[in-house]
Amino acid sequence: PPPSGTDPLAALNDAQREAASHLGGPLLVIAGAGSGKTLTLAARVAHLVLNGADPQRLLLLTFSRRAAQELQRRCAALLHQALGLKPTQAAPVLPWAGTFHSVGARLLREQALAIGLSEQFTVLDRGDAEDLMALVRQQRGLAATAKRFPMKGTCLSIYSRCVNSQSAVGPVVQQVFPWCQDWVDELQALFADYEAAKQDQQVLDYDDLLLWWHTMMQEPAIAGPLSERFQHVLVDEYQDTNRLQAGILRALKPGGGGVTVVGDDAQAIYGFRAAEVRNILDFPGQYSPAARIVTLDRNYRSTQPLLDAANAVIALAPERFAKTLWTDRASAEKPRLVTVEDEPTQARWVCEQVLARREQGLTLMRQAVLFRSSHHSAALELELARRRIPFVKYGGLKFLEAAHVKDVLAVLRWAENPRNRLAGLRVALLVPGIGPAHARRPLDTLAAAADPGAAMATWQPPAAATVEWQALATLWLALRRGEPGWPGELQAIADWYAPQLERLHEHAAARQTDIDQLVQLARGQRSRERFLTELALDPPEASSDNAGDPSLDEDYLILSTIHAAKGQEWQAVTLLNVVDGCVPGDLGVGTTAELEEERRLLYVAMTRARQHLDLIVPQRFYVTQQHRHGDRHMYGARSRFLPPELLPLFTHATPRADGSEPTRPTTQVMDLREKLRSRWG
Ligand code: ATP
Ligand code: MG
Repeated sequence: PPPSGTDPLAALNDAQREAASHLGGPLLVIAGAGSGKTLTLAARVAHLVLNGADPQRLLLLTFSRRAAQELQRRCAALLHQALGLKPTQAAPVLPWAGTFHSVGARLLREQALAIGLSEQFTVLDRGDAEDLMALVRQQRGLAATAKRFPMKGTCLSIYSRCVNSQSAVGPVVQQVFPWCQDWVDELQALFADYEAAKQDQQVLDYDDLLLWWHTMMQEPAIAGPLSERFQHVLVDEYQDTNRLQAGILRALKPGGGGVTVVGDDAQAIYGFRAAEVRNILDFPGQYSPAARIVTLDRNYRSTQPLLDAANAVIALAPERFAKTLWTDRASAEKPRLVTVEDEPTQARWVCEQVLARREQGLTLMRQAVLFRSSHHSAALELELARRRIPFVKYGGLKFLEAAHVKDVLAVLRWAENPRNRLAGLRVALLVPGIGPAHARRPLDTLAAAADPGAAMATWQPPAAATVEWQALATLWLALRRGEPGWPGELQAIADWYAPQLERLHEHAAARQTDIDQLVQLARGQRSRERFLTELALDPPEASSDNAGDPSLDEDYLILSTIHAAKGQEWQAVTLLNVVDGCVPGDLGVGTTAELEEERRLLYVAMTRARQHLDLIVPQRFYVTQQHRHGDRHMYGARSRFLPPELLPLFTHATPRADGSEPTRPTTQVMDLREKLRSRWG
């Protein structure tokens, strides 16, 4: 590099520098959260490029598109500095960075003709894949069998699990889907048909991108040139790769030369998708004796009190690769354990904290709110929208933008205002047998029925629509008459909607949870009108897909599932619902392995924070799935991962539950309507 430049290794500590400047043999960096693994990877890339490696012969594999972009950004910054370039000068050529899936898609397109694939193959998204599975299932007559055959979504999950773990149907079903044991033979035949259908249509599903890549790598004529082409292959978050991915890596670099993997076994959180933490633990043996192992034990991210708490949580795990992190970032501020009354209080409290921190100079972007499952943020999203605090959400659609939530709200909006044709149309289309072309007449008919003065319209629903339409008409007319009243009417709508949900959407159970959540939120508002007004406050633009898009220059808060927050860090992190049933999730169904994965999730969440960390424990926590038919509130218990002996590591706060709404005058002073009318004599 020219003298003006800064060596990309200059800022690294000794162990990091050793890893970054390691020569060609297989290299494993295994180290705890925030120890600079990703930074070291970026520095290694910059170092390689500066020492003459061709950037186009480097391949960087990450677990998400966002992580790939972030890694490239870091590499670019280091190269810029090293080459003494001005910020305005164009960045040097950057190595190829992407997820296994995106890189696979590109390589398969390059090699398509050689492997019997059309160059124009399409990649099916999850929804398309499910539809194809449903079709094949139908054709085999499995949908109509007396004993219920698994739904298309479950079939695809089993299929996916088999592919990614490289196992046969039998063992996968036995271990992970025991309720489908009677169907192993049928599933096997179904999957054969599904495979044939995909080949027939020249489409690949998501898993195929790995499977085809992996299979292609078994052909020496293709594997040879590809492993020549990539001088170095570097993988971040290696603990969350599955067997196929490890196999691909091995096939790309059979001797392990030029392979760098970094990861942390304590952060393995994708076992539920067939990731194998063994990949990272077995790496040294796999490439013995050539493999070099570097461990990093200094954490640069978090203050000592935060690290103490996170270390204590993971230390209780029965099995792990022992490592303790240290930091010199002293602080007097311990993480906080905040007990609040219920979820609405939690949402209000989080908003107040976020705003208070912004007052103190911490922009929204440097704060994040994390949660176990996407729907846990529903109450918070509404509160943020109400206060017009902009946010983006990673890992899951924004609650109010989900189709099923919109469906239910459309019924309510249409009842509130029969002239809201947009809402009416949306509702009419939910009825089987009514299509866009003939939705107008039924709407007019209903409007006429609600208005005694209007002329009678005479519309006869088509046969397929009769029952559903009658039910809807009855419900709608009742709503217009003010029955059964607020907030019960939202439950009535939800009841009508449940069968439509089953019919229209896959994953009905999970979506039903959202609807239940909506009903629950309605109980917190005093009227339908008030509820709808709150919701109408336009939610921020960004949706989950372009979340984090750097072109969004407005300041916004990050909401994220813990899974999607992997690898990232924020100045302040708040974790919602640190209660049993949530972290760990789904009480009563977990195996030990699943429970341990939940513990690591908590560890991942806690280690995202640099300076401030709040764990919130709502005492009244709404658990839908376990309590479907009974009491819908469960009294939350603090997560079992925070046993009493860990409590001294936290400060404790119990903010007052302030459920009051803005005050309104209760007595009417005068009726202005009267006054205005009387002006005209
Ligand atoms: P995770 O396990 O969460 O993915 P990680 O090990 O990949 O964490 P990084 O994200 O690379 O850690 O680094 C964490 C933070 O520490 C970053 O802000 C990074 O810039 C900083 N950091 C890492 N190494 C150093 C160093 N040698 N000097 C100063 N800061 C460092
Ligand atoms: Mg990292």
